[in-house]
Amino acid sequence: MIACSMKHHGRIDPGLSRVDVIRLTPQELDVPVICMACDIAPCIKVCPMNARIRQANGTVVTDADVCIGCRACVYICPVGSPKINPHTGKTMTCDMCQGETEPWCVAACRQEGALKMCTDGAISKNSARQAADRSRKTYPRK
Ligand code: SF4
Repeated sequence: MIACSMKHHGRIDPGLSRVDVIRLTPQELDVPVICMACDIAPCIKVCPMNARIRQANGTVVTDADVCIGCRACVYICPVGSPKINPHTGKTMTCDMCQGETEPWCVAACRQEGALKMCTDGAISKNSARQAADRSRKTYPRK
């Protein structure tokens, strides 16, 4: 989260991170939550301003010039991924640090293998999304 806020805002402020880390209390596990860039992204469909856009690298991001901060994308997202920028009220999601050779969170991770880039086919986005959805329902975020 620190690396993400540094990359996108030039300062250490976990509130500005596009990655969230939630604690699953029964298991005492910390799990990163990140935009899954769904193939059929509900956030794109629900946004009344067409502010959610898919980039060439596949990520789905918010056009902050257009977003009105209604949070419809947050509520419809199966993993609750879009974060609210506390300073602007607009949403933000992972853009895979577009233009970098690897996302800053991956570069910053000190636990080998805990965060890594997955190429297409290395992971089923649908199964990952379904698992995240189940986790979200079982352990709702506060
Ligand atoms: S918060 Fe912004 S990006 Fe999300 S649905 Fe509303 S206008 Fe669209």
